[in-house]
Amino acid sequence: MPNKKGPFKKPAPKPAVTESASTPAPATTKKSAQPLQVVRGMRDLLPMDQAYWKQTNAMAENLAAAYGYERIDTPIVEDTSLFVRGVGRATDIVEKELYSWETAGGESLSLRPEGTASVVRSYIQHGMLNLPQPVRLWYTGPMFRHDRPQSGRFRQFYQAGYEVIGDADPVIDAQLIILGWNFLKGLGIETTVRINSLGTPECRTNYKNALVAYFRSKKAKLSEEDKKRLLKNPLRLLDSKDPVILELKAEAPQIVDWLDEESKTHFMRVLEFLDEVGVPYQLDPYLVRGLDYYTKTVFEWYANSDDQELSQSALGGGGRYDGLVESLGGRAATPAAGMSLGLDRIVSRLKEKNPPPQDHRMPHVDVFLAQLGEMGRKRSLALYEEFREAGIPVGEAFSKANIKAQMEIANKRGAKWAIVIGQKEVLDGTVQIRDMDAGSQEIVDVKKAVHEIKKKLANGVDTPAATV
Ligand code: AMP
Repeated sequence: MPNKKGPFKKPAPKPAVTESASTPAPATTKKSAQPLQVVRGMRDLLPMDQAYWKQTNAMAENLAAAYGYERIDTPIVEDTSLFVRGVGRATDIVEKELYSWETAGGESLSLRPEGTASVVRSYIQHGMLNLPQPVRLWYTGPMFRHDRPQSGRFRQFYQAGYEVIGDADPVIDAQLIILGWNFLKGLGIETTVRINSLGTPECRTNYKNALVAYFRSKKAKLSEEDKKRLLKNPLRLLDSKDPVILELKAEAPQIVDWLDEESKTHFMRVLEFLDEVGVPYQLDPYLVRGLDYYTKTVFEWYANSDDQELSQSALGGGGRYDGLVESLGGRAATPAAGMSLGLDRIVSRLKEKNPPPQDHRMPHVDVFLAQLGEMGRKRSLALYEEFREAGIPVGEAFSKANIKAQMEIANKRGAKWAIVIGQKEVLDGTVQIRDMDAGSQEIVDVKKAVHEIKKKLANGVDTPAATV
């Protein structure tokens, strides 16, 4: 079973209740409750950051449309066996990082650590094999890995992913890379893609054997953890950041020498397509990625940066997975490829490039409803609905009685006009429209208030652009 020591443990038993419910607690023991904190490794995406997320999500959606992908949303919870079979039992993601638990009915469920396995499950389950191939699907949403939290690494993080199922052509791999590169470039992040080929499962097995033989000959230098990796998943050694392994790696066999002709040709063609479009890439003979399902092309995007940490932290990655559909019970020999982008890391790059304003700014409105007295408040409440339905950005401070305080808020929200309604206006069936800059005012029929503001907006009166 994966994740025996996983994050889900039985809750500690509640202390026995010794006092009856009616026993009042002694006054001296009453303390204010400790404020609760967000769960370790998880975080709130606060209002001040939402504009960056919106920009990133819009890019994900626009590029999906531009490259012909249809949206899919799969559940966050899946059968644990989907990830054991899909991602691989001996991968870190499944062995150490899966949030798994057993239900009362004895099922083993897990929070998804990535999106590809679920999309492939859905493709098989809904017979998408009968649609014109390839099927291009995209998704975005939270993923969960019980990893050690550190900079750029969270236990709940967000990905946008793109999968192309049912096509073996290397142009598919290349276009996924081009999409990811354009995604990041469009957000002002220049990247280089690191790329490698893992060949067919046969090439990989032969290569693994060569790698095991090499590292066995260096066994004395390996840590206990690396010795275990050597037995279970030798390719993971190539991912290690351990300086000893880094040194040994320089002499280790390279997969390119073990590729068969077909894999070599496939790889060369992917590179040719990238050259054609001018996407910068770097061959990385040791790039293996941490998931078992990859075959042939694998790749990751890294920001072009002198900062060591930034240039070592992938913004996304993917590759071809020609065996996954079959291993999850779909039709044999259904080729596929996909990639995902790490939105948390992308948003943090965007934030560094364009820091948020120091002061908290309230969202901009065109018009602000200010009211005096209970009658004025009721009329304003109804008028607010009319503005909202007309699609005119409108603000209010209905819980405030003081007109000065209301006008201050109107100013902060950048309103060009304030509509003031007091008892007199209610009785006359009118409203006062104040021009906030000129200080002038006019009286109009309440029924014409929305129309009047619409007219002013259409007359091209400048309104400040919406701010972050
Ligand atoms: P992977 O398929 O595991 O390489 O994940 C694809 C991308 O998701 C990575 O390149 C990261 O940008 C992002 N990512 C993966 N794990 C995490 C994490 N724990 N926290 C934040 N981002 C992550």
